[in-house]
Amino acid sequence: MSPTISKIKSLNVAIIGAGAAGLVSARELRREGHQVVVFERQAQLGGTWVYNPGVEADPLGSDPSRAIVHSSLYASLRTNLPREAMGFRAYPFVSTGQPHRDSRRFPGHQEVLLYLNDYATEFGLTELVRFETEVVYAGLFEDGKWKVRSRQENGVAVDVDEIFDALVVCNGHYTEPRTAEIPGIDAWPGKQMHSHNYRIPEPYRDLVVILIGSGPSALDISIDIAQVAKEVHVASRSDEAEVLRKQFGYHHIQLHPMIESVQKDGTVIFYDGSMVLADVILHCTGYKYHLPFLDTHGIVTVDDNCVGPLYKHIFPPVLAPRLSFVGLPWMVLPFPMFEFQSKWIAGVLSDRIRLPSQEEMMENVSAFYLSLEASGMPKRHTHKMGAHLFEYNGWLAAECGVPVTEEWRKKMLYATFQNYLAHPGTYRDAWEDDDLVLEALMEMATVATLD
Ligand code: FAD
Repeated sequence: MSPTISKIKSLNVAIIGAGAAGLVSARELRREGHQVVVFERQAQLGGTWVYNPGVEADPLGSDPSRAIVHSSLYASLRTNLPREAMGFRAYPFVSTGQPHRDSRRFPGHQEVLLYLNDYATEFGLTELVRFETEVVYAGLFEDGKWKVRSRQENGVAVDVDEIFDALVVCNGHYTEPRTAEIPGIDAWPGKQMHSHNYRIPEPYRDLVVILIGSGPSALDISIDIAQVAKEVHVASRSDEAEVLRKQFGYHHIQLHPMIESVQKDGTVIFYDGSMVLADVILHCTGYKYHLPFLDTHGIVTVDDNCVGPLYKHIFPPVLAPRLSFVGLPWMVLPFPMFEFQSKWIAGVLSDRIRLPSQEEMMENVSAFYLSLEASGMPKRHTHKMGAHLFEYNGWLAAECGVPVTEEWRKKMLYATFQNYLAHPGTYRDAWEDDDLVLEALMEMATVATLD
């Protein structure tokens, strides 16, 4: 079913990135009647889901001049969300049943890439993408427009400047590593790296490896490495240790508090006084927002991993609606949230949906920041959505005049999370929410009503 649109304004919009966020933005903007160019520095669409066996020259990712490898996927990665809940609302992520496809409920990463390609084909999005074209500069121009400088490298670099009415930033935020600070690390003789550059366990054969972190990547990678390493140790904050303890019950992985310091003989000392002589420290400590191409004359900044000020994590009040961001919040169901965010941007850009005044948006942002501060939330968690996700999606849906998140999707996310906490080692292969799967499949048959 196509939407009923009383289009007021059609703009010429640049989108940076052809990952899931850029693709759904391209779709929503185009169906609203805008003209769209998607700039993508890789040779294919899919962003994070394009697995690259190569890694960066600097294993910690701290050298700003290094050649960037975009994806942080490791070879064994399977989704940590069930496919029904993870997929776009307008294009369900159901098994195709074809023999070369992965029909598991928590499929391997290749299946997600194939799904994103199917999505782009279904909605004719690929022709909107300029591949191997990196945006090296996007800055404010006259009359609220944006100058975009893109670069193609074909032996020699060729830069092209173009002017767009609006810019939508979808460049992803799992590429620029964040590392832990470790006293004594400069004199420590071992090897350090970030999980961004982890692919396969083989290089860790017979080594003593220490991972820092407790998120899904730390869990997966420690189990991967434990197949070949001499010893695997995981350092995490104590409040995060319980899930890890259950997980590592099966895998001979030793759990520790955080690292207190390291010494030049190779010893790693933990806060409880325990010590390990280690070969490798692997930082599974997350990522930083990184917008090296963006010039807003200081209006939008990245400070302590907070991109701001942004109204609803999307529009900087002073530059709204001609600049927007899709995909900044984390601890979310990414693809459906991208759908809501980009629908809102598309409608606002055509003047079909009204934004509050600049002052009102700024007041809203200030009040939000104050509420985070009052609740003791560190600034770097500004975009952490977690339990607020469905309220956020619901607000966006109401602005767009579309149905809110389906009940089964909420219940399925909570059921999966409970299952993960109770059975972190097996949650991808054993579950008890088959009734929700059935409900999802039945509702997906009427998906057009959500679109
Ligand atoms: P990306 O997929 O990162 O795409 C950004 C695109 O922008 C890239 O193609 C990049 O090349 C391009 N780009 C960047 N800068 C420029 C530039 N200057 N010029 C031109 N192009 C540029 N999500 C789930 O739903 N389920 C999961 O199980 C799951 N597992 C994950 C596991 C790992 C290890 C990681 C890192 C993430 C995982 N995610 C998962 C989250 C995942 O990142 C999102 O699902 C989603 O792919 C993010 O899409 P995106 O478009 O925002 O960013």
